[in-house]
Amino acid sequence: MTEYTAVIGLEIHTHLKTRSKMFCACSTEFGKPPNSNTCPVCTGQPGALPVLNKEAVNLAIRCGLALNCVINKKSVFARKNYFYPDLPKGYQISQFDRPVTSNGFVNIQLPDSTEKRIGITRAHLEEDAGKLVHQGAEGIEGSTASQVDLNRSSVPLLEIVSEPDIRSAEEARAYLDKIKSILQFAGVSDANMEEGKLRCDANISIRPAGQKEFGVKVEIKNMNSFRAVERAIKIEIERQKQLLAAGQTILQETRSYDEAAGKTVSMRSKEESHDYRYFPEPDLLPLLIDDAWIARVKKELPELAEQRISRYQDEYGISAYDARVLTLDKAVSDFFDAAARSYSGDKKTIVNWLTTDVLGYLKTENLELPQTKLTPENLAEMLGLIDNKTISGKIGKELIVQMLKTGASAQQLVETSGLRQITDESALQKIVQEVLTANPQQLAQYRSGKTALKGYFVGETMKKTKGQAAPQLVNQILDKLLKT
Ligand SMILES: [Zn+2]
Repeated sequence: MTEYTAVIGLEIHTHLKTRSKMFCACSTEFGKPPNSNTCPVCTGQPGALPVLNKEAVNLAIRCGLALNCVINKKSVFARKNYFYPDLPKGYQISQFDRPVTSNGFVNIQLPDSTEKRIGITRAHLEEDAGKLVHQGAEGIEGSTASQVDLNRSSVPLLEIVSEPDIRSAEEARAYLDKIKSILQFAGVSDANMEEGKLRCDANISIRPAGQKEFGVKVEIKNMNSFRAVERAIKIEIERQKQLLAAGQTILQETRSYDEAAGKTVSMRSKEESHDYRYFPEPDLLPLLIDDAWIARVKKELPELAEQRISRYQDEYGISAYDARVLTLDKAVSDFFDAAARSYSGDKKTIVNWLTTDVLGYLKTENLELPQTKLTPENLAEMLGLIDNKTISGKIGKELIVQMLKTGASAQQLVETSGLRQITDESALQKIVQEVLTANPQQLAQYRSGKTALKGYFVGETMKKTKGQAAPQLVNQILDKLLKT
């Protein structure tokens, strides 16, 4: 059977973090009543003229720098003509052959921890369209009515187009993780997929291993999570392989991903760029960016993920792997920084708790860190209580869940629930003695040489004290009592 390799390119649309829209002063705030953030410009009324938002350009330059792109001194806005019910103008203002930034790259980490460079063809500015809302159904089919909300119309977007350098669903996922992290750290976008602030289309083709020419490309749209992108790519590669194996041809088309059905579905035959009849936007001058402007943006660039990864390694001796896990999400990384400031112990302890207990909890509950009530100060305080032996690490693992849920401090929880570790030797000795008395059979076996039973006595003591006994002390006491 023929071996195939996949060729994948991703187009990522991201909402820029501006307060106002791309060509008017309307607010970009998410979740407002339908059509409240609108004006004649962003609803496409005749005669209304666009005025370019400088802040959107600042963020595009910032993103271009973070993606190692060239910032083009002259770029041009174009009209991309198409009819869509949520696009009242009948065209979208975008950039075509003269984008604001181009020719960049990012390095991604593969599961086997090697690095791979993915080229960035371009990152260009454009405006978003509005949104159709269907009543009583997911799409127009089966709905009782359809309405349009133009709050999102003309929200600034940056479209980041990768080179077709991606070879698998796993690489696509690593690339998406990387771009999201770059956007968040550069302060360019919240990159929140649930609010539609990050959207991804994938171009996928396959070719026989070793062949240079690309196969026929299929575009997949409508993927609403990183997991969906990964799965849709896997499914589409498989579909194309089966078609070729059956001697059929692959059509150049746009397909959508149906998550529930676990398959991709044909939407329409793929448009070519000439179908959009691009031409320069007559109402906007070319965008000119001089060196001074670029230098100004460069100076304002915040600490990026790569810099933070090096800082964690240098300052705290954290492994490269852990540093990458911490910086996958900016909120997690900021949380770690704040906890590190208020915790005097070894910072690697914070990493352990964050990457296992906290991230584990987020995964099971399907939450983001800011949606929990845990504060960095509370985590730091709890680790201090473990260090000074007020509580055991085992109790800490129970407390952290309550802290995530309720926002209570460890100190409060210890006071109200009496979880303080028992470190009083005479009190503990009494309990251990009780355990030995209650288990005469095991004690006799121990005395006749079955010394492994010591672990059993430790376990019984921990059970009796609900995990509050200091394990080290229990061991010392047992050594003493078992000798006599
Ligand atoms: Zn407006």
